[in-house]
Parts: sequence; C-alpha cells; structure tokens
Amino acid sequence: MKYALSGALAVFAAFTVAAASASPAPAARETVVFVEAHPDDLAGHLGTAMKLAEKFEVHVIDFTHGELGCGEEKFKSGWTRRTRTAEETEVCRRAGFKLHWCEEVDGYAYAGKAACDRLAQLFKEIKPRAVFCHWPIDVHDDHVMSAAATLKAINLAGIKPERYFHEQDIQSRGFAPAYHVDITPYVEKKAQLARLYVCQGGDKIVERKAESNRVYGRNSSQRNVEVIGVFHGTVKPGGSVFDGLDGVVQ
Ligand SMILES: [Zn+2]
Repeated sequence: MKYALSGALAVFAAFTVAAASASPAPAARETVVFVEAHPDDLAGHLGTAMKLAEKFEVHVIDFTHGELGCGEEKFKSGWTRRTRTAEETEVCRRAGFKLHWCEEVDGYAYAGKAACDRLAQLFKEIKPRAVFCHWPIDVHDDHVMSAAATLKAINLAGIKPERYFHEQDIQSRGFAPAYHVDITPYVEKKAQLARLYVCQGGDKIVERKAESNRVYGRNSSQRNVEVIGVFHGTVKPGGSVFDGLDGVVQ
C-alpha cells in the first residue's frame, strides 16, 4: 500500500512538473514610452501607439495634467485637472497603456531639475527600448519644455533608447517625418478613444486628426497615416521598434 501511494505521488509529481514546463511564465515584453505635454496630445499618434502595443508594453507619461485647458476659473477650482486626469486615465485604460504623471503644471511647465529628475526616475523604472516625445520646435512652450526634459532625463537615467518625435498637427513647426505609419486598422478605435477627451472638444479632435491622417495617406499612397520623426543616430540600421510591423514605411 505504501509503495502504491508513493508510486501515485511520483506520477502526480511528474505530471505536475510536465504541466509546469509546458506553460512557462510569459517573458516580460520590451517597453516603449510616449511623453506628452498634455493629456489629449496622445490623440495625435494613438494609432502608432496601438500598433506598437502589438509587440511592446506601451507607457504614457504626461508632463502636466492640462490644468489650463478650460480657462482660469476651472484651473483655480481644480475642475480641469480632475477632469483631464480622468479622461486620460480612461483612454489609457481602454488602450491597455500604463499611465504616469510628471506633475508639472500646464502653462507653467519647465524643463527644470525637478521635472528632469522625475522623468529620469520613471525611465529607470520603465527601462524603455524607445522613447517618443514632442518635436521640439513648437508654438506651445509646454511641448518644447516636455521635449527638452525628456532628452535631458534620458541622459540622467543613463539609458540609450531609440528616440523618436511625434507631431502636433497645428502646433509643431518644420516637422520632419521619418516613418509613415499606416493606422488604417486602428482608425475606428482611435476615434473612439480621442472622443473621450470631451472637455477639449473630443469630436473636433477626431475630425482634425482624421483629416491629417488622410492627407498623409494620400501623400504616401496609404489610406490613414500618422508620421513619426527620428533623432538620427539613436536607431541602429535594422534595429527599429518599427521593424517587422506591417504598414510602416521609412
Ligand atoms: Zn499639448
């Protein structure tokens, strides 16, 4: 009886080991980070972020909460901060992106030491393979400051990620597209998500971005296209996060 029980246990143990080795824990995915000055800035490249999410864990860091986006009164009462924080949280939740905040203030944002240190700390934790930030020539100071802080924080964190730039269609100046990303499969979901930026006129954002995507689509013979710039020298030949993704043309 004792032998029979031991035998049964041995068979059970062997089965358990076999079952465990048949389904190993999934390997952690590499990460990419999008740094945005304001919550709704993500709307400009949601399609690219969703496409990258097929291969990578996508993180979003908002430099500010967009506190000034609905006027002085709602800024002072804290209404805009609460509302835009909730909107961005919902967009990232639905998209499956991990959201972080840098806690600068809309309209008063600087690429100062505290902001750069906070970003650097996040980069050390996230260990991004690629970082996307605003194109640094832009009519909105917050966009410029968040881009400067991002580039400084990358050096402070001692990391060497691929560095890319995203465009704000009506505010960037002299943007140089390096990658044309066909986002046609994501157009509907992009519109659904961008519409959630209600206090910034979500429907208008959807219209404006869709028009921009169609214009870039015509120019590149693709249908709906977002464009991404690159910090030359930070991407090795054949070593881009875009390699192997369908519908990305350099
Ligand atoms: Zn913005």
